This record gives sequence, structure tokens and C-alpha cells, in this order.
Amino acid sequence: MATLPTTAEILLKDFGPRPAYPALDPLYGQTPDKLVKTHCCFCGVQCGIQLKVKNNQVIGFEPWEEFPVNKGKLCPKGIKRYVQNNHPDRLLHPLIRGEHGFVETSWDKAYERTTTAIQEIQSKYGKDAFAFLGGASMTNEKAYLNGKFARIALGTANIDYNGRLCMVSAGAANKMAFGVDRAANPWSDIPLAKALILAGTNIGECFPILTDYIWRARDNGAKIIVIDPRITPIGRTADLILPVKPGRDSALANGILHALIKEDLLDRDFIARHTTGFDKVEELVENYTPEKVEEISGVSRKSIYRAAEIWGEAPTAMLLHARGIEHHTKGVENVLSYINIVLGTGKIGRPGCGYGTITGQGNGQGGREHGQRCNQLPGGRDINHPGHRQEVSEYWGIPEAELPGQGLTACEIIDAIEAGKIKGLLSISFNPLVSIPDSNRTKKALDKLEFLGCIDFFLSETAQHADVVLAGSLQEEDEGTVTNGEGRCIRLKQSITPPGNAKVDWQIICDLGKRLGKEKYFDFKNPGEIFTELTGISANAPVDYSGMSYERLEKEMGLFWPCPSPNHPGTPRLFEGGKFFHPDQKAKFFGYEYRAPAEDVDADYPLFFTTGRVVSQYLSGTQTRRIGELVDQYPEPLCEIHPLMAAKLGVKDKMPVRVITRRGEMVVPAQVVTTIRPDTVFVPYHWAGKKAANQLTNRALDPISKIPEFKVCACRVEKV
Ligand code: SF4
Repeated sequence: MATLPTTAEILLKDFGPRPAYPALDPLYGQTPDKLVKTHCCFCGVQCGIQLKVKNNQVIGFEPWEEFPVNKGKLCPKGIKRYVQNNHPDRLLHPLIRGEHGFVETSWDKAYERTTTAIQEIQSKYGKDAFAFLGGASMTNEKAYLNGKFARIALGTANIDYNGRLCMVSAGAANKMAFGVDRAANPWSDIPLAKALILAGTNIGECFPILTDYIWRARDNGAKIIVIDPRITPIGRTADLILPVKPGRDSALANGILHALIKEDLLDRDFIARHTTGFDKVEELVENYTPEKVEEISGVSRKSIYRAAEIWGEAPTAMLLHARGIEHHTKGVENVLSYINIVLGTGKIGRPGCGYGTITGQGNGQGGREHGQRCNQLPGGRDINHPGHRQEVSEYWGIPEAELPGQGLTACEIIDAIEAGKIKGLLSISFNPLVSIPDSNRTKKALDKLEFLGCIDFFLSETAQHADVVLAGSLQEEDEGTVTNGEGRCIRLKQSITPPGNAKVDWQIICDLGKRLGKEKYFDFKNPGEIFTELTGISANAPVDYSGMSYERLEKEMGLFWPCPSPNHPGTPRLFEGGKFFHPDQKAKFFGYEYRAPAEDVDADYPLFFTTGRVVSQYLSGTQTRRIGELVDQYPEPLCEIHPLMAAKLGVKDKMPVRVITRRGEMVVPAQVVTTIRPDTVFVPYHWAGKKAANQLTNRALDPISKIPEFKVCACRVEKV
């Protein structure tokens, strides 16, 4: 058989039509040896799926209809996820950079090169000069292990994860308002709601199977309000669309709360008994008349009043939001301003009443709970809290003084590399070169590193810059747990073992820990032992998994935390009876004046530039850009532009346009659509190099969550 080009070769150099993609797997369609009940590897719905396995290869799938979240349904990514196995790009051996590029090497040499680099850099520049970046698609076990490895084996404060680009604004706001960072309700509550606000959440493309829950609510008579600068697919379900100007969300939320007050639609009894801080917020939003908010946000006063009426008059209601309001330099303020609407009307803690953030990544919830964030220790503990530090150091058996303090966040780590303060980086399942805003700067920063090590299963764009690549595992090659967007911890089963000479990720981390002289802390024989340690250390912590076991998770189709004892049923719905997680059991209101985005439109850059996902791609595309059928659905980024703006620029559908911001420019085909504001353009972010939307985005950070402002900056568009 002729040698086929790898998909990496095709994708990295090809900006034209994609060559035909032959069937890669001769086992496709054959009778499997076994069916493995596990979960999709992509978004935070974590749909149940049965993988068909033959000869240690995944050859297809069957629906898993008993799993309650998706009941057998899957989106295009879930249907095609099995194709990533046996891909010619799969890394089968560790790679080491030689004079002429990468060469395959032994594990011994790869580990030796990595640990020597760590030791040399740390002895020359200090412990914190070596950083670690993890991922929120990884299991809870790996998230826990990443944190332990960074703190004990590396002794660095500088560990963070790619959820910093994703859920952290919601997480910070949840802690501030409710005292806990988790969705308030199981998704089974959604169909019970009679009103839904979907703010900045493209559910149909980013969390596709949750669409079914929204439709069931609609079929039960719910009124649906969608707030977005684009009419995304879920907008077709809406009764009311509020097409907010990018970056104006807090003003709009203040305006809706103002209208609720004027229309006497608040639950004053709930506010008095279960919350604090409302008086100040009431005073603040007095100025946010719908007339004024119309001017700021571009949403008509009539629509603002209508939204308040729909929400306020409904007997039950839920608010769901996502990156659309979170990816801002005021992401935390935006989320808290929306939470004020929920608290002010007392619509929380009851069936069909509540709140949730749509997590972006497969383990977006669990990935942020077990200690791989720069400010966090296992069990959702605070790294700056003396009691929490003591508990963790005692459990680990190290002096508290040896536990590093708070380090830098993901974007700050890249900035510190650029500034020459961080000299070495180990990255696992994170592709910062594609994911972090202002990617031209990211590339220059990575080139300054004295050592870059990557643990991954495909050669991501970041891994292409590495000195050592450690061939890790795909989700189906390992086992463990993840926690989906509603807070349900579920069990992932190992379907196959890693091919060739690749290893499971947890083993690689443990091997490195042992080679760095910390054998006794990384003496795990399987993920089950890591989970036992994770659940044990979480006892009595803010995030308590201590009543969970693999057996229970399988038998009960997942468990919601808090789950503090083996007999505890878990906690699907939080805040019942108006009991919140602050010491006084009350929720807190926080009010904020509207402030403009870090970079607003002006005469030179008159259009808003915003980014997001498409249904057939996932994150930086490392996996989905290698799945031919998904590539065929959306082969390259397009620039959504309104017909009015297109006509002004003399641009027609599919014509190339140049999109320019203060950081870079890209040429992309126009997609002329009526479903976007005329003052806004949208480009999805799943591609690399000259196709990367993040060449253009702004790395300005939210002061609390340190999330970058992916969702708004200023651009101009030119006809090419
Ligand atoms: Fe389900 Fe999300 Fe996977 Fe689609 S991508 S099948 S919605 S888990």
C-alpha cells in the first residue's frame, strides 16, 4: 500500500481542498470482541457511549440508552470520536529533538532528558522557573496528580491549566455568590422550568445534547430568552432574542434587574431571608434604566422589559450561561450581575429553579476541583488558606513550609516565559500555541524556553516546538473519572491499551515524580489508587467526594458532590431550602457598574471581533482536525459577517476578507449571514497558524479570574 500523507502533514501545510481520506481501519464494520460502556471524550455533557473493541482497537460504537444524561443520543463529535483511534498521526514512541528534528527514543532517554532539564533549570534559576500546564479534558485522577506532581516533585508554584481559558470566571463568581463552585441543579431540572435565560451560550454547537433538555422545556410551555450577539442555533428555539453588543453584558443584566424591580417582580421574602447585599445592588441598578441600557447594549428597552416579565412572572425559571458572558475582562462581574437576577427573584434551590454554567471541556467541572489550578489545593481548597494548607501537607506527609504558594495563571505563565522569568515548561493535553490569545506572542515566548516538554497523544502545534514529547494516552486508553457540567462524577472505563510504546498519562507523571526523587508520593499502581487518595483528601473539604468509589459510580450512573460518606446519596440539587454554602448560609449579591471592554471599537477598528466554536470541532482541534468526517463538515474557519456590512465592504459570500486587529491579521472566506449583529464579526478558533483566530484576540485579563478577553476586541475588515 502506498504511504499516505499524515493528517498533520495535510493540515499543517494545506489551506486548500483536503485530499480524499481513505478508510484507515480494516476492522471497521466487523463484529467486536467487546462493548465498553464509557463516555464521550469531548464536551462537558459527557454523553454515555458504548465503544466497540476488536483486537485492542476501537472500531465503532453503539448508543448507551440507559445512561440518563443522553439516553443514547450523540452529537456529530460523539458519533465520530472513535475514528481518532488507529490514526496514522498517533504518537507511538517518545520523541526527542535532535539536530535534524524529532527522533524516536526510549522512555529512559526521554525521561532522562526531561528530568535533567528540570533539575538544571531549577538549580540555576530557582524552583518557580519551571512551570507546569495541565488540561481540563483530563480525568479527575490526572488533575489531582498534576497538582501533586507540581507541588511535590517540581516544587513549583507555577502550575495552572487550560480551564483558565474557559470556566474560571463562572467558578470565581459562583464562589463569591453562593460559597461553592458547582452548577446548582441537575439538568433534569431544565424541562421543569417555565422560563429559561440562555446568556452567551451557543448550546446547540458547544453542548449539543443539552439542546434536547431545552426543547423539552419548550415543549412543556417554557418561554426561552437567548442573549447573544449572534442568533446561534439555540436562538431558533427562542421566544425572545436579546442581541447584545459584545462586552455589554453586565449593563444588560443590570437593566433586566432594574425592570424586575420596577415591575415589582422580585421575591422580597427570599431576599430578606436568604441573601445579603441586595440594598447596594438595588441602589446601583436604579441608574440602569432600560432606556440607558438600550444605548449601551444595543438591546431595545421593550425587549429588556419583556425579558423581565417572562422571567419574573414564570413560576419556575433557570439561567444558564457560558463563555459568551465569561470570556471578558469583566467576566466575573458579568456572571455576578446575572446571578443577581436569579437571587432577586428567589428562583433557585427548587425543582425547575436554578442556575448553571455550561462547562466547555470534557472535565471542565472536575478539572477545576482537584488542585491543578495555581490558587487551589485538592478538595477545592484555597492555597492561601493556612488551615487548608495544613490539611493537605499533613495528608501528603510534607512540611507545610515546603508546599509552594500561589503561582501564575496560564496566560501569566506565557507572559513570564516571554519576560525570561520562566525557563522551562512541561505541558500535558494543553495546546497553548493555538488556545491562548495573541498567538504570535505565544510562539515567540515558547521559542525562548530553554526546555519544553509535552505529554500528548498527537503532535499538537505546541508539541512541535518541544524538546521532548512523551507519548501519552487517549481518553479510551486509560480509566478514571470525570465530573460533568451538572456536577455528576462518572466513571470512564479503559477500552484499549495505548498502542506501540505509548504510555498512560498517569504512569508518565508518576515515573517522572519517582525519577525526581519523590518515589513514595507517586507509588500508584492504577488510577483506582489515585482516586482513593483523591476522595480521601477531599473529606470535609469544600469539594467533598469522600463517599464515592468506582463501584458506586458505575452502579449509580454517577454521583453528584458533595457526597461525604459511602451511604450518602450525593447532592444533585444544591441550595434547597435557601441554604447556601457561605458560613451564614446566605447567598451574596454583588453589583457592578458597567465598564467598557479592554479594547473597544473606534474609528480605526470599527467592528467587534468575537470568537467561539462550531459543532464539528473541539477546542484547539488537535483531535477533531484529524477526524476526516468532522473536517468535512467545517474544513476551515469562516468569518461570519452581516449582509449590511458585507454590502458596505463590497464583499460577497465565500469571498476572502482580511480581518485585522492591533495584534495581527488573517485572511478567511466570508460567510454572509443575517444571524449576527451588523457591527460584529465572528471567527471560530479551532485552527492553527495562519488560520488561528487567536492571532487576533486580546490577552487582556479579568482581574479576578484571569480569564482573557476572547469574546471582544476591535477589528476592521477589508475586502481582499
Ligand atoms: Fe455528547 Fe458533548 Fe460528546 Fe457531543 S461532544 S456526544 S454533546 S459529550
